[in-house]
Amino acid sequence: MQEHQPPRGLFGHWQSIPLYLRILAGVGLGVLVGLAAGSNAAVLEIPSKLVLRLMGALASPLILIAVVQALMHAQIPRGSGFRLVSLLILNTLFAICVGLLVANVVQPGRWTTLKVSETEKVDAKKAPDLMAQFLDNIPKSVLGPLGDEGKVISVILLAMTFGIALRQVKDVPVRSVADLVEVSFRVLIIILHWIIEVIPLAVFGIVASIIGRDGFAAFQGLAVFVVAVLIALLIQMVYYLVRIRFGSWVRPFDVLWHMRDALVMAFSTASSTVTMPVTYAALRERVGLRERSASLGALVGANFNNDGTALYEAMAALFISQMIGVNLSLTQQLLVVLTSVAASVGAAGIPEAGIVTMTLVFNAVGLPISYIPILLAVDWFLDRCRTAVNVMGDVNVSCLLDGKIREEIVSNQTDAELTLLS
Ligand code: ASP
Repeated sequence: MQEHQPPRGLFGHWQSIPLYLRILAGVGLGVLVGLAAGSNAAVLEIPSKLVLRLMGALASPLILIAVVQALMHAQIPRGSGFRLVSLLILNTLFAICVGLLVANVVQPGRWTTLKVSETEKVDAKKAPDLMAQFLDNIPKSVLGPLGDEGKVISVILLAMTFGIALRQVKDVPVRSVADLVEVSFRVLIIILHWIIEVIPLAVFGIVASIIGRDGFAAFQGLAVFVVAVLIALLIQMVYYLVRIRFGSWVRPFDVLWHMRDALVMAFSTASSTVTMPVTYAALRERVGLRERSASLGALVGANFNNDGTALYEAMAALFISQMIGVNLSLTQQLLVVLTSVAASVGAAGIPEAGIVTMTLVFNAVGLPISYIPILLAVDWFLDRCRTAVNVMGDVNVSCLLDGKIREEIVSNQTDAELTLLS
């Protein structure tokens, strides 16, 4: 791997500022420019459309490779698979139901008076053709341009993107299929990081254009959305603790206390994968779970178990549908549940993965993805919160797998029996 270079030049210094501060700067600047430029700020939407398009293109391969990689490396002892899978599915379904319930009760999207369909029509008329043509050349999917789309510029853009990304891993030896999958995953993550670099600019543009067009109306709803998501995540946390209380030997408040480092780390890194070793070590050494339960929940489960992400994606879909005045029927909400499960399973445990896979949930129920960028303004914060819940979900599964009898007691009994026998 490359040595970390100190930042150079203005761009280097900009990059050395934490992402959330850059996003906040984008929000602040966007508000000022939106107020000053009014409806002229509409053109500033371009970077957010670009980010969205790129995220959409990356979503499917990222899910594919993440799931393939997780399945290839998962070491599930015989007989544990069914229990693990049923625990994961139950928790994720519960999370999504909590999310949908809170979103239906709080109705965060109704707090805004944004007339989206009309403004969208106006925008479509005003939008310069040049922009549409430009965006048309950004691939909608990674494999699309290689199929029958026949867009040469898209193919060249893809080749350039992968070519430059592959330069960073070109010396990594590929000796096995596992290596190949690993390298593909690394390349996708490199590209995702490039997209993440553009997020502050996208946030600036989308905030400026929305403020310029509708004032603060959309953000009123966004504030309520943040509160609603926090309430739902809190309910999910309580659910975990109750399950731990009745389904394992571990005491719920002890587990919170022992897992404090992992939870704080999840919040500060917004990555459950980066937190994984800390989660595992704390489960083993502080909570005192068996090796098997800790590794199944924290190492295997962490790859598939993203309840916080599932809850968030379902709530976001409902929020945007409420905001634009589209009523999602029960069947559509069910579709949201199913696609959110799939999207959360495929979301890699890295920052912003949830918002990448969210494009798939929106597409599945026919919601316009053009409103996802609004969420970018608050996603840096909600990502951290849902990552903490994702980690707590792994902890929950590990504790439940460990059962109602502590290992120490079992081994102590064995020791006592051995002493008696000797
Ligand atoms: N950041 C989350 C995680 O690492 C994934 C997401 O974006 O929802 O678990």
